[in-house]
Amino acid sequence: MTAACLMSTYQPLALSFTRGLGTRLWDQHGREYLDAVAGVAVTNVGHSHPRLVTAISEQAGLLLHTSNLYSIDWQQRLARRLTQLSGLDRAFFNNSGAEANEAALKLARLHGWKKGIEQPLVVVMENAFHGRTLGTMAASDGPSVRLGFQRLPGDFLRVGFGDLDALERITQQFSARIAAVLLEPIQGESGVLPAPPGYLKALRDHCTRHGWLMMLDEIQTGIGRTGAWFAFQHEGIVPDVMTLAKGLGNGIPIGACLARAGVAELFTPGSHGSTFGGNPLACRVACTVLDIIHEQGLLQNAARQGEHLLDRLRIELDGHLQVRAIRGKGLMIGIELASPYRDLAHRAAQEHGLLINVTRGKIIRLLPPLTLDAREVEMIVRAITRLLD
Ligand SMILES: *Cc1c(COP(=O)(O)O)cnc(C)c1O
Repeated sequence: MTAACLMSTYQPLALSFTRGLGTRLWDQHGREYLDAVAGVAVTNVGHSHPRLVTAISEQAGLLLHTSNLYSIDWQQRLARRLTQLSGLDRAFFNNSGAEANEAALKLARLHGWKKGIEQPLVVVMENAFHGRTLGTMAASDGPSVRLGFQRLPGDFLRVGFGDLDALERITQQFSARIAAVLLEPIQGESGVLPAPPGYLKALRDHCTRHGWLMMLDEIQTGIGRTGAWFAFQHEGIVPDVMTLAKGLGNGIPIGACLARAGVAELFTPGSHGSTFGGNPLACRVACTVLDIIHEQGLLQNAARQGEHLLDRLRIELDGHLQVRAIRGKGLMIGIELASPYRDLAHRAAQEHGLLINVTRGKIIRLLPPLTLDAREVEMIVRAITRLLD
């Protein structure tokens, strides 16, 4: 089978899976792989979780879609759960990460408009990734995302991630026009780069002082990935707006934009919407994902196994000439190499039965399901060590 009928937005490996269970996937020849990608931080509770299989098949037999012209019980339940977990007050649901960030950017515009700012600006970070729509692409950094798509919406100011001096400078220069700041607590696509200690707290204070919305893109870091429900909870802060997607539906497409009271109400009937957003299937699945994470203790497991994996990688790869840095939080871990290796993900799969992701050419990104156990930590460590030898 050739992929000649597909637009080449991706360069997939010559590898295809027919089924999955927990942390494992099987290809069409029946070979087993340990999945340390989890569909890019999506299948956080593992593949084919029996409770999700039941929830999906039961709901499919009851009702998939009615639209937001009618109230949707599962949507309200999910909103209640997410607001309780996050400390934010209201949720809007759609179908992807980029769309969730678009909702946040629209809230930022409304926030600026309400304050009488004619052309509101949003502060974003160097090396940020927020999605592939025109708006979220403009908020993102890096030529591979943006090249050839000019002109992009220009209502963004970019500062160094973690650079408080740069933030101070643009504040002085543009303070009358800035409505919000949008950032990832740990930059994922650009290589698992955590915000420097104290940065999010300082940014929170800065936003409060200047009346900006602090908007966190937790699309990759959220839903337990870092060992807390949301990465901001490690920092003792609460943002004004937060976006979620990836792990929320464990593979059923769903995105969410949450906001605190006073901000959420900027949306009024007719100002935003989504045909599929928040349908009974996706919301029931997301509620079940939250139940599973809670009942199986997956936050604690992600924190514990993540720390264990970091320690073991640091020990085994200590002094390795090709390894520049090993970093991360919970089960979001990056191994930065000195130079790009060819075919690293392909070789890891072929030679070691391990699925990894490589971002920016030379950063191995590990995002296994949050159900990972100690034995699987060792399997990952052994495979990575051999791969780099
Ligand atoms: C994946 C990702 C997005 C985009 O999500 P899509 O569902 O692909 O639109 C946005 N922000 C971050 C931090 C992401 O990791």
